[in-house]
Amino acid sequence: MSKNLANRHIRLLQPYSSARKIGGRGTIWLNANERPTPPVLTGLSFDDLNRYPKPQPACVIDKYARYAGVPCQNILMTRGGDEGIELVLRTFCEAYDKVLYCPPTYGMYQVSCETLNLPQISVPYLYQNSTFVLDEQTILQNIDDGVKVLLLCNPNNPTGTMIDRQTIINILSHAKQTIVVVDEAYIEFSLADSVADLLAQFDNLIIIRTLSKAFGLAGIRAGFVLANASVIGVLQKVIAPYPIPTPTAMIARWALADDNIAFVKDSVAQTLADRKDFVNDLMTLPCVQKVYASHANFVLVKFKDGQAVFDALWQKGIIVRNQHTAHLLQDCIRISIGSACQNRAVIDALRLF
Ligand SMILES: *Cc1c(COP(=O)(O)O)cnc(C)c1O
Repeated sequence: MSKNLANRHIRLLQPYSSARKIGGRGTIWLNANERPTPPVLTGLSFDDLNRYPKPQPACVIDKYARYAGVPCQNILMTRGGDEGIELVLRTFCEAYDKVLYCPPTYGMYQVSCETLNLPQISVPYLYQNSTFVLDEQTILQNIDDGVKVLLLCNPNNPTGTMIDRQTIINILSHAKQTIVVVDEAYIEFSLADSVADLLAQFDNLIIIRTLSKAFGLAGIRAGFVLANASVIGVLQKVIAPYPIPTPTAMIARWALADDNIAFVKDSVAQTLADRKDFVNDLMTLPCVQKVYASHANFVLVKFKDGQAVFDALWQKGIIVRNQHTAHLLQDCIRISIGSACQNRAVIDALRLF
């Protein structure tokens, strides 16, 4: 069969299991950290769809530069943050170049490495004083032994924890021969913690951003890579010639207008308030063992019997993300913060346990 002609490492690959793939008859989707409300688009019309798009739409780049507080030449637009991550690996790694990441973390890091057949080193988070802490010492030791790309997720999916800023600075200063990627997919929920200001100081820093989470635009596939101009230059050589569809660019430009940015800020504030209520309600439930403090639009919850809770919610059409196979996360489930009404439905369903 022709599928046997596929590369050996692709035949062995366990693909990313996204919520949309695994199915389920969901009525309440709280498994992909999407914004609960869709954007209401106004005043958009699509001209020039017969033409190839601009490789990098300047109007979007300008607006994102202003939003992120970095110069335009430090930005590359991608088809979502996921393309940015893979692009960095394709650009900087060849056979035998090691990639380091820290589980439990975003599952796509492993999948991207496996797709590209790159050797991986995993330095697990430590569990100290009831929280997840990056193992800085072991990371630095591994970097000394040769690591081409380090992938850090901040805030971390699925734990919701932040990496100490000084830790990131220590790693950046130490790892001059290593590209340090800081994935800020959820940074809008903890904006003061962005390391975008460190780009001026470190040319080995790459930041991944997306419009999929706080901006509520997972459907258009828009992300950004922030890095020094020389790094952006080499990424430009590798990215597809016309990566950004015209409709995506036009919607992204709309999304980055001042009034929508103000709207996103309000919606983030609402999510943070809803998260607080949701966490308080969770803590009153007998089936809940622990709710981890979160800096993002989801919470990680440890239950007495995680699988039973997952199955029961699934039966009720409430789709959440089971984390039980991840390092340190037995009986843990990641639940996106939905609308107040959706969060209440989760609490009501869990009360029956
Ligand atoms: C959602 C997410 C992304 C990127 O998602 P895109 O939809 O591809 O922009 C990147 N990193 C993390 C940690 C995420 O959770």
